[in-house]
Amino acid sequence: MSGFDVDLFVIGAGSGGVRAARMAASHGAKVMLAEEFRVGGTCVIRGCVPKKLYVYASRFSGEFDDAAGFGWHVPPATFDWATLVAAKEKEITRLEAIYAKTQANAGVDLVRSRAVLEDAHTVRLIADGRRIRAGTILIATGAHPYMPALPGVEHAISSNEVFDLPQQPEHIVIAGGGYIAVEFAGIFAGLGSKVTLAHRGDNILRGFDEDLRNAVRSAYEQRGIRLVLGQTITNIDRPGRHAVTLSGGEQLEADAVLLALGRTPNVAGLGLDKAGVALNAGGAIAVNASSQTSVAHIYAVGDVTDRVNLTPVAIREGHAFADSVFGGKPWLVDHANIATAVYSTPELGTVGLTETQARERHRVVDIYKTDFRPMKATLSGAADRMMMKIIVDGESDRVLGVHIAGEAAGEMAQLLGIAVKMGATKADFDATVAVHPTAAEELVTLRTRSARFVRS
Ligand code: NDP
Repeated sequence: MSGFDVDLFVIGAGSGGVRAARMAASHGAKVMLAEEFRVGGTCVIRGCVPKKLYVYASRFSGEFDDAAGFGWHVPPATFDWATLVAAKEKEITRLEAIYAKTQANAGVDLVRSRAVLEDAHTVRLIADGRRIRAGTILIATGAHPYMPALPGVEHAISSNEVFDLPQQPEHIVIAGGGYIAVEFAGIFAGLGSKVTLAHRGDNILRGFDEDLRNAVRSAYEQRGIRLVLGQTITNIDRPGRHAVTLSGGEQLEADAVLLALGRTPNVAGLGLDKAGVALNAGGAIAVNASSQTSVAHIYAVGDVTDRVNLTPVAIREGHAFADSVFGGKPWLVDHANIATAVYSTPELGTVGLTETQARERHRVVDIYKTDFRPMKATLSGAADRMMMKIIVDGESDRVLGVHIAGEAAGEMAQLLGIAVKMGATKADFDATVAVHPTAAEELVTLRTRSARFVRS
């Protein structure tokens, strides 16, 4: 090392930052990692992890209802919000400690401070004013909820606050139609709150396959979640029991208003201009395929680059950066065919192209689709459905996309991700013997084509 205090300075101890710091240290680099809030970042502290715990909590109500059909006599169940909040807090505190320990074990110097760039090689720690000279810098500062300038926005909460509401809302109004809005609508409905979801579009989950969007939409309506489509919130009045005005003129009373309207990269006040790091048109840090910014020795990974904003992607980007720059093993992250789940209830699992995308990009597209009542619902009497859809290139027989709505769809998506990534054909699916009785077996027994689209 020549003239620098550290080989690598990482700003942000979220999913991407911690992986990059640990891997770089394992390759022998001297690494400092700064975090201004809690170690673990959005995913661990106020995202994926607590969200999934709340999803589990929300699904018990359905299980209690289902149990009767199997002979159980379940007394009326009650739910205590404070118990869930405390249990969640205990778990993320445990995880946070593990993350910090893993960094220490790897030899990473973790500092609890905001860090800003003073020039292209100097980082200043706000907590104690120290200036650290770094050979390489990685920016992994993530993103924060976008809050529009609507009247009364100060009464609204974002996904940062929703986990720790002092009380469970009797009625929650949620704005947005993306992952976060849809997941929290399902969570609060399952926990027994009245839920209204207002979204500007004509359907939720834009960008997902139309059949998935429709499956969640109709299941939510069936569950009693009110979807107000084609409208937004225009005003929020009063603290406490808010008066919420929708663009159509309707006024609602709500105990909580959650805005889930997307996220904005955390670039403000970082000193990017002083270092010469350029932003793209959307306000995220501009990077090339190696996560390198406009300054050759400054890199950025994860949501601050606004590529594919998912934790496992940030982790891979951080890993690839560390191996490439410090491990002598350069590799690039492939952002194609990333499987993902939406933890709505019913859950969604998806990988590859939607039908719309496939028909735009391929000349012949075959659709195999099934919609059925899952076995468990036969005795429980629940209205649950399961939807599965396989999209195939009619010319090469390659599976282009698979989309599932229903129980364990996320788990299935993970495994389908392997098959699709390997380039599996429909014939490969057909050659696979079913696991019986499962819902997933439909994926290998679907023989009848539902539709073929040929572009002239
Ligand atoms: P999304 O980008 O998924 O959705 C934003 C929603 O807000 C869209 O429905 C959008 O509508 C709407 N919207 C945006 N701006 C406005 C506006 N000015 N007025 C009204 N509506 C607006 O963001 P989320 O906040 O839901 O989630 C952020 C990211 O976090 C996701 O993109 C995802 O990458 C990640 N995430 C992943 C999860 C998972 O993997 N399970 C779970 C939670 C989050 P329109 O569709 O019309 O643009």
